Amino acid sequence: MKRTGRDRLSAVGFIALLLLFAHAPVARAQDSDAPIAAHLRDAGLKDEWGYRFLETLTTLIGPRLAATPAEARAAIWAEKTLKEAGFDAVHRESFAMPAWLRGREEAAVIAPAPQRLVVTALGGSVATPPQGITAEIALFRLYSNLLAAPPGSLAGKIAVVTQRMPRVMDGSSYGAANPIRRRGPSEAAKRGAIAYLNRSLGTDNHRLAHAGATNYESDAPRIPAAALSNPDADQLERLAARGKVRIHLLLTPRTEENAQSWTVSAELKGSERPDETVLIGAHLDSWDLGTGAIDDGAGDAIVAGAAHLIAQLKPRPKRSLRVVLFGAEEMDYSGPAYAKAHGDEAPHIALAAESDFGARKIYAFLAPPGSAKTAFIKTLADTLTPLGIFLAREPALRSGDDIAPLAKLGVPVIAMRQNGLDYFDIHHTADDTFDKVDPQELDQNIAAWAAMAYLAAQSDLDFRRLAADAQH
Ligand SMILES: [Zn+2]
Repeated sequence: MKRTGRDRLSAVGFIALLLLFAHAPVARAQDSDAPIAAHLRDAGLKDEWGYRFLETLTTLIGPRLAATPAEARAAIWAEKTLKEAGFDAVHRESFAMPAWLRGREEAAVIAPAPQRLVVTALGGSVATPPQGITAEIALFRLYSNLLAAPPGSLAGKIAVVTQRMPRVMDGSSYGAANPIRRRGPSEAAKRGAIAYLNRSLGTDNHRLAHAGATNYESDAPRIPAAALSNPDADQLERLAARGKVRIHLLLTPRTEENAQSWTVSAELKGSERPDETVLIGAHLDSWDLGTGAIDDGAGDAIVAGAAHLIAQLKPRPKRSLRVVLFGAEEMDYSGPAYAKAHGDEAPHIALAAESDFGARKIYAFLAPPGSAKTAFIKTLADTLTPLGIFLAREPALRSGDDIAPLAKLGVPVIAMRQNGLDYFDIHHTADDTFDKVDPQELDQNIAAWAAMAYLAAQSDLDFRRLAADAQH
């Protein structure tokens, strides 16, 4: 776990370079951006602070389900840690939301071949009756086949959807599969089903179920819903191919109304245009099965680690830089809550980005719309090329769920694209633990984010105007 010490010579050289540019005439400021960005990048590759941040978060706090005491402890710890890290202002704010608390979760095949099934309740699911539900299943290998089932056809049955999510580098198959978990329970209930099971939205073949929130629709009965591990979904497919299958399901989650979640933000005050802010975020809450290392402790470590490096700079970058660690991404509350509380600041947020896709290396970045040909992007691309990162051809239209509501208010975004080939092997499972994060890969992220955030904060570009111009 211990890592080798920072290269002393390099640290001294870095500070000397900062001192050199700190007193450079204004006219040379642009020229100095690239070397400082390069040194932030190189310092990021040797960073230890971010990895230690992740180690402490996942060890001292562990699982951080939104609006629970553990999530509140994480916020208090993050506030204290950021205060000690050289930021100009650190702030913790709450917002109201219900807390969903997992209970017992048991499933088993009753007939024709009694055996246990590995399941986990979907976030937000209602409980089964205390004695559980025992019923015949109606199994659909495709979600569209469930949608094609007529009303009433699933009466008294447990609907099971076993459609598999493909493994892809950019993780976009997750979004495509999301309705299976988000909308499946209500679609099944509209057709008469009394419970719902879906194959986990995961690409592994381990006997671990993947958690994740569902969203009940107002025009359907709320039925208990859970995810099956991939091998258990396979098993049900084989059994169903042979005839009728009866299963038993017991879920005892409960919801506490009037709970609260927390968002922590830390700011470096801009030296020339403090009213303009570059916002980089990640989410502090996690699912409760693992310790939230790749989702999204890594993102917290990446954006806080990047800003921590920039916090060592004197003078500060021109624009203010704000790190936001959001409180309840997994339950869909933090993004809307932040936009509600800070919507009036949206016109002053020059650029925003979120890191919420694990800790594997970044391989591409997406420029804000209309900015691909600017000096800012050229300098950024040149700085990131040695990290194996290229400029993607498509513009950044989204960059994480927590800042999507800000983007809707007109805040331009920039996006880093990480290698997500194995992200959904671990995502939302009990296996999302600290050991899965490679320190070198984490540091590559911190290096890239430090360079990007610094250059964006130094830039004079009006990303909003560039995006508007690009539309015409
Ligand atoms: Zn996440």
